[in-house]
Amino acid sequence: MTRYLITSALPYINGVKHLGNLVGSMLPADAYARFQRARGNDVLFICATDEHGTPAELAAHESGLPVDEYCARMHAIQKDLGSRFGLSFDHFGRSHSPQNHEITQHFYHQLDQNGLLEERTTTQVYSIDDKRFLPDRYVVGTCPHCGYERARGDQCENCTRVLDPADLINPRSAVSGSTNIELRDSKHLFLRQSEMVGRLREWIDAKTNWPLLVTSIARKWLDEGLKDRSITRDLTWGIPVAYQGKVRPGFEGKVFYVWFDAPIEYVGATMEWSAATKNDWKRWWREDEGAGDVRYIQFMGKDNVPFHTVGFPVTLFGSKEPWKVVDHIKGLNWMNYYGGKFSTSGNRGIFMDQALELLPADYWRWYLLANAPESDDSNFTWEHFQATVNHELADVLGNFVNRIAKFCTARLGGVVPVGGEYGALEAETTGALEKRLATLTAQMEAMEFRKSAIELRSMWVIGNEYLQKAEPWMKIKSDPVAAGVSIRYALNLAMVFAALAQPFIPHASRAIAQAIGGKTGSLRWPARIGDSLEPGARIAVPDVLFAKIEPEQLAAWIERFGGADRKNG
Ligand SMILES: [Zn+2]
Repeated sequence: MTRYLITSALPYINGVKHLGNLVGSMLPADAYARFQRARGNDVLFICATDEHGTPAELAAHESGLPVDEYCARMHAIQKDLGSRFGLSFDHFGRSHSPQNHEITQHFYHQLDQNGLLEERTTTQVYSIDDKRFLPDRYVVGTCPHCGYERARGDQCENCTRVLDPADLINPRSAVSGSTNIELRDSKHLFLRQSEMVGRLREWIDAKTNWPLLVTSIARKWLDEGLKDRSITRDLTWGIPVAYQGKVRPGFEGKVFYVWFDAPIEYVGATMEWSAATKNDWKRWWREDEGAGDVRYIQFMGKDNVPFHTVGFPVTLFGSKEPWKVVDHIKGLNWMNYYGGKFSTSGNRGIFMDQALELLPADYWRWYLLANAPESDDSNFTWEHFQATVNHELADVLGNFVNRIAKFCTARLGGVVPVGGEYGALEAETTGALEKRLATLTAQMEAMEFRKSAIELRSMWVIGNEYLQKAEPWMKIKSDPVAAGVSIRYALNLAMVFAALAQPFIPHASRAIAQAIGGKTGSLRWPARIGDSLEPGARIAVPDVLFAKIEPEQLAAWIERFGGADRKNG
């Protein structure tokens, strides 16, 4: 038994996540966690909401709530949606938790003790009317290069040039629109990342089996020369720059930068889990406390890769304590919506709550994982979604299970048929399925979800082909024993399919296993294709597993969410 620590990148707190976010880290992480549990391994699957930073503050302000209350509410909403999507987190925490305060301040103290922090004074925009410092992107004005009037202080969206707020003509606050702003000096803590380049390069160079997407992003950052970065901000919402209750002198009213404390919340959330369940979090995180045999895997979208290959490792290595560092990073590309970006701020695409209003979670889970943006970006269209659901889930898996269960109930007394022996056709089918099973297991182990979905679907097709050849519906009259044999074989295959599909479509898998396997129906990952059902045991017909998406539904959804016309939107 191996111990797997699995984390998904933390969804940001400001709103319900869209399906692009879901398939970009949380869903593939869940499929892998479910696979490893089904293999009998010890899994700890951790995620949390990322709650600090200016966007959270401003979103709270817009909704008229105090920021802590806003975050508590949004956390509850995201947690509920995750659970309805079947995301099997052992703990879904909050980066604002007391545990994350404690452990973030611990890392700060260690880095400080080890001489890796330095106080530097920077000049920043202060809004007198808003009574606050403004992050660069919250200063807007006219671009000096192209004349665009809503250029942000960090970059002009129109001509994409990188800017400094001081470059802007007619600068104003994006919070209030006030032009009553000035430059003020402010003291910040800089993490001396430049000291750690050698250590990081050595570490990345040893990761020969990581996806190229991940190592190339990491190397690009190291090659460009890693800059020291400020890990504090002039904000009130966040984790105070303090240790053991004492604020660092001169850092009153400042907090750690959200990108410093967010990855630390992987540890913080494990501490929250530990407090809630009386488990020992150190067994998972401290190599001197038993985490030496843990295999740690992180899932994330490509935009998060720099913070996990450079930022967070600097914190862990810089502490000079024996922390568990990641063993494997599964980085994902983007899933697009009709060739354009899914966007929370642009309200484009399908959001998790809307998706569940339309169809149960498994329809989405299957589509998203079978089209996961792994080797390249992938593309959602409603037409493709309909075709996938109808042809793969309804026609192939759903049809196989419902057909044999109904036939068994109507013609064979609703029990697993007794008597008769498997023959050449069953042996041949088992042989074909075992080849696929070996490939599927290897692909799941390698976190290749698209390829895994192809293997799984091929196995369902083999099951349907078996029924076409065995023809129990014809044989029931001439040779009822033979008909019983093929139904017994097919019912056992349905149990195998349920177990193998469980990482993808857990709700349907459970429905199949319970209807056909009864209370003892197991979803353990099988090593071989074999029988698990007792002949003579009673079975039930599961409710329709997957209904087809009808043309009228498709038309209504395209009307509501936008279709091909959103391509350039
Ligand atoms: Zn411009």
